[in-house]
This record gives sequence, C-alpha cells and structure tokens, in this order.
Amino acid sequence: MTDRPESPAPGTRLRRLLVESGIRDPHVLEAIETTPRERFVDPSLRGAAYENRALAIGSRQTISQPFVVARMTELLELSGTSEEKVLEIGTGSGYQTAVLCRLTGRVITIERIPALAAAARALLTQLGASNVEYHTGDGSTGWPSSAPYDGIIVTAAAPRVPQTLYDQLKPGGRLVVPVGTEENQVMQQVVRGPDGPIVTDDFHCRFVPLIGIEAWRPKGPSQG
Ligand code: SAM
Repeated sequence: MTDRPESPAPGTRLRRLLVESGIRDPHVLEAIETTPRERFVDPSLRGAAYENRALAIGSRQTISQPFVVARMTELLELSGTSEEKVLEIGTGSGYQTAVLCRLTGRVITIERIPALAAAARALLTQLGASNVEYHTGDGSTGWPSSAPYDGIIVTAAAPRVPQTLYDQLKPGGRLVVPVGTEENQVMQQVVRGPDGPIVTDDFHCRFVPLIGIEAWRPKGPSQG
C-alpha cells in the first residue's frame, strides 16, 4: 500500500491561490489562511467557502471574493500597531472584519442592514474578536466621533469618493473604495497626501451598491 500525500487544509489552498493571483503581503496571507470563511456563509454554501468567489449572505448582499478581501486589505497598508484604527463601511457577513481585526489595533465597523449587523456581531464575538466596535446605520458619512483613521475600507460600490470619509483620514491615511457605476467599478486607493488626495486605480470589480447620504439613494423597501 502506498501513502497518498495529504491534501492541504482549505485555508492553505486558498492562500496558494491568492499568491498565484498576486497577493504578496505575508500578514494578509496569514490572516486569510487562518480565518474560517466557512463560518461566515450559510451552511448550504460551506462546500464553496474556500473558492475564490463571492457568495450570497441573505438580504440581497454578498460576502466578497477572497482575492478582493485580500487585495483591499493590502491596499490599506496596515502597520499592525495597537494604536492603529480602521473604519470599515459594510460589515456584511463580518468576514472582512475578521481579517482586519487580526491585522490592526482597532476596527470600527458599520452595517446598514440590522439583521446582517447582528449576525456578524454574534459570530465575531463567538470567534473571540475583542478589538471591534459595531454600529448599525448609514456608514457613507463615516463615524466622525472616532476619527481620524489610519485606514477606511468601503466594501460597497460608491458613485464617487465620499468626501466625508476622506476628511476622516489621518494625514497619510488610506481610503480603499470601489468607485464607478452600479454595474462596474474600479478599486481606488485614496491617500490623504500633504497637497490633497493621491488616487491610484487598482483593479476592476463589481460590488453591491453603497446606499446612503454620500452614495446611492435607496430604490425602495426591498433594498435592505
Ligand atoms: N465585507 C463584507 C463581507 O466580508 O461579508 C461584504 C460586504 S457586502 C459586499 C456590502 C455591505 O455593505 C452589505 O452588507 C450592505 O448592506 C452594506 N452597505 C451598503 N450601504 C451601506 C451604508 N451606507 N452603510 C453601511 N453599510 C452599507
């Protein structure tokens, strides 16, 4: 009888896939490898949890593709110090939050759909995330009382860079946001530079809309 080589754990397979897709930051790769994505999806979708694709999480929303989570996290250029503070708009399933809270001192996260906000909070608490502050409501105007932030990540599509979010960055802080139409966006990194915003386009993407005062208007009662 010959010994069959053991297949790697799902998180390790996902890490390899992300390396092949160009993700380089070892801390980001480690955080993705050790975050149990299957806990953030419906039990019926667990078989697909480590595939590189977005999945439905209810309320017509999605958990982002692992590549997108990894690349957006890289673009935040986190230092990992305990003083570092990151604002996340669009908690969704809480998966991106779980990755962030392994890589930075404090995460403030806002979700506009109460059912998603409550489920994410319960799961992250169960998983032992102790450096996360949760809010429910419109995050398109940020969370001014905890500003300024080292990084702000928006995990829903905005029609333009929300000025109020940019204003809540520290000097040198990074805002990562998909900007474009409701169908197509470009992921942008906006750095608060000494002479104004420094904008770099990264990759094309398609997110669910950011709905709020500084974003798209709700279309009706069905949209969350
Ligand atoms: N990062 C999430 C994850 O890992 O599961 C996925 C986020 S999902 C693509 C986008 C989320 O943004 C949705 O849950 C949606 O309800 C939320 N959202 C949309 N507009 C918002 C707003 N103005 N404030 C806060 N959350 C918002």
